[in-house]
Amino acid sequence: MDSEARNQPGESGEQAEKAGGAEGSGGTGRASQRRRLVLPRRGFLLVVSGPSGVGKNTVINLLRRRCPDLRYSISATTRPARPGERDGVDYFFLAPQEFQAKIERGELLEWAEVYGHLYGTPRAYVESCLEAGQDVVMDIDIQGARQVKAKMPGEVFVFLLPPSWRALEERIHKRGKDSEQAIVQRMKAARQEIWCIEDYTYVIINDDVRRAAARLHSILVAERSRVARTHWRQYFARCFREKEHPGKEDATK
Ligand code: 5GP
Repeated sequence: MDSEARNQPGESGEQAEKAGGAEGSGGTGRASQRRRLVLPRRGFLLVVSGPSGVGKNTVINLLRRRCPDLRYSISATTRPARPGERDGVDYFFLAPQEFQAKIERGELLEWAEVYGHLYGTPRAYVESCLEAGQDVVMDIDIQGARQVKAKMPGEVFVFLLPPSWRALEERIHKRGKDSEQAIVQRMKAARQEIWCIEDYTYVIINDDVRRAAARLHSILVAERSRVARTHWRQYFARCFREKEHPGKEDATK
């Protein structure tokens, strides 16, 4: 199946916007959607990076459970699937030639070589979500984040830090996915990666996955209220009409 076809914007975010801009952050039913009115706005990217093994996946999955209207950018990669990983769910697993063709057709928003394999973000899905006012969370490495920032500096960049080197090494060992040699390589990379923290908007120490997910959620909620992203003129025209508030004209004109 074509990667773009499998990676289409879902319904809940669109419905939330149609319901008058209700913020879908886990509330269920029409009543809760109607109660929480928010301004219509354009979506944004929530870019999450951090060393391998820091727990990005777990934290992002917790956030997604809490915010079903948050979209997830499924990356394309040339690395082979690990046991339990599904094509089109965890990644789009591509042959190197297929990945190269995507680069040449300009279909990737960013791409990079990470630990000997190619990884990239399909552009069409992300762009269609943003246009539809939906926010997209993505787990990409520091090279990819740098490319996204160069093209889209107004997006939100979050760096996840381990509580210590020892904790990071223990986690990589515990997940049991990597050889001794790969662990040494990942720890070495991590020691360099953390210096890129200055390129990011926010930092979260992942000392506890629930707490880290709660912090990421706070960032998401705050960023959803940025005036610069809202279509506040549209909202004013609809909800703060002159006849309802005589004498209070649009002072910004
Ligand atoms: P893993 O193979 O362990 O799933 O991921 C290895 C690294 O690749 C992680 O640091 C992850 O953030 C990064 N990665 C995953 N998807 C992308 C992507 O689309 N672009 C870039 N640049 N890095 C990615």
